[in-house]
Amino acid sequence: RKPQNHILVIFGASGDLTKRKLIPALADLYHQELLPENFAVLGLGRTELSDEQFRDKMSDGVKEFASKKEREHNDFLDQLYYYSFNTKEGSEYEGFRNRLEELDKEVGSEGNFIFYLATPPSMYPLVPKFLAEQGLNKSDSGFRRLIVEKPFGYDLESAQQLNCDLLKYFHEEQIYRIDHYLGKETVQNLLVTRFSNGIFEPLWNRNFIHHVEVTSSEDIGVGGRGGYYDDSGAMRDMVQNHLLLLTSLVAMEPPTLVNAESIRNEIVKVLQSLRPIPKDKVEDFVIRGQYTESKVRGEDVKGYRQEEGVDPKSRTETFVAMKFFIDNWRWAGVPFYIRTGKMLPTRVTEIVIHFQPTPHHLFSEDKEILRQQNQMVIRIQPDEGLLMKFGMKVPGAGFRVQDVNMDFHYSELGDTYLPSAYERLLLDCMLGDPTLYSRGDAVEAAWKFIDPILKAWKENPCIKVHGYPGGTWGPDVSDDLIEGNMTWRYPCKN
Ligand code: NAP
Repeated sequence: RKPQNHILVIFGASGDLTKRKLIPALADLYHQELLPENFAVLGLGRTELSDEQFRDKMSDGVKEFASKKEREHNDFLDQLYYYSFNTKEGSEYEGFRNRLEELDKEVGSEGNFIFYLATPPSMYPLVPKFLAEQGLNKSDSGFRRLIVEKPFGYDLESAQQLNCDLLKYFHEEQIYRIDHYLGKETVQNLLVTRFSNGIFEPLWNRNFIHHVEVTSSEDIGVGGRGGYYDDSGAMRDMVQNHLLLLTSLVAMEPPTLVNAESIRNEIVKVLQSLRPIPKDKVEDFVIRGQYTESKVRGEDVKGYRQEEGVDPKSRTETFVAMKFFIDNWRWAGVPFYIRTGKMLPTRVTEIVIHFQPTPHHLFSEDKEILRQQNQMVIRIQPDEGLLMKFGMKVPGAGFRVQDVNMDFHYSELGDTYLPSAYERLLLDCMLGDPTLYSRGDAVEAAWKFIDPILKAWKENPCIKVHGYPGGTWGPDVSDDLIEGNMTWRYPCKN
């Protein structure tokens, strides 16, 4: 199914996201003939660019970042236009509206517009207001949609305020909050694995699952983004959105239907069931860390506080490990452990379901063997796939047990094309399907859980920021979070 004819208006089109992700994703959609017949992109920014200059710039982005970069892109690039103005100034919107309406007539996009906010977040409340002043937020004939990039707020209060500001001018059904993790094929596959196979779902509860682990690691530091990152940190950048979303998909109840309302209802229920972490017990549940100067793969690397743009006394976390519980029927008493960080040994995102061990260990008491088997590893990136680990008899005399792997890699599906997250999500918005976008109440529920932790860190200087050498799996104390004789899985190993 092709989307209806429309114009995609990108606020912040001279920025990094547009060049690296949005335009390459659109080029890939174009080559799969998934864009409508009458379609255009109108890029906006203060930088003065002609349509031609914008196309040249975007052409570089397509060549570098699109999946189908070897293709001829000229016809696609001809659909890109640019208009320069200051989106902070309400008085400048009339000129923009005139240009948009002119382009609408030229292209034949039937008054259907998607507005993509890829600007600094300070602009998020302003743009909808100014669009509404020009009557561009609604239409009797065409559709009007608004895509908002993260961050959705800085804390609970600002997230609530942002929702409030957006909802003054657009209805919830028009608002598409993008979390690119939901656009990943393997994340969506979580739902299919769970709900289309009779073998997993009966075990998917407190009776058979011992604990759940979610890791998302990066093997690089903050690089040139130190200034931005120092105001944000791993909790805001990764945990509040991506990792809690992954947790929700692992933990949610089966939706009644595969549609936006049913799936998003179940996601929000999980987030609302997260047991609050008491402010005075934060250190028992959450470990934060910062990478320190070290040698990684033979090279000297800076510590976080030495990075450009970072306050030398910064207490911003580049690592978070936490333990929490979901207070509902299915998960009562099952610990969830999540971990994320920069400058860790490898780049990986994976979910590990640790099933309960057998009640009586007939064949081996070896703790290491018992720890390694009985796991299902869902790899989100890279090398997307699914790994089951279980114990098998070592051939020969006796009953020695060894853990073995049953391993599925998406790459083995021959020439199946894996669309990028932005490709999938942009197409969904064009088709009017918000299933894989975050709903306002889910964003607020996630902030409600995270906010007290951030406040405790801010208000209590005694809560430690643990240093960890780059290239390690974070501060050693994060191992103490895991109960019993378990440890975090070391994702480099199968
Ligand atoms: P960026 O490179 O700094 O680009 C910001 C854009 O906003 C530029 O095009 C800039 O254009 C425009 N802008 C700023 N002030 C403006 C004004 N007063 N009037 C008109 N245009 C204005 O940022 P980015 O990396 O593309 O990120 C954009 C948003 O996406 C941010 O909110 C970011 O948090 C979010 N995000 C980015 C990524 C990523 O991978 N980059 C990932 C997830 C989320 P001019 O300078 O030409 O005015």
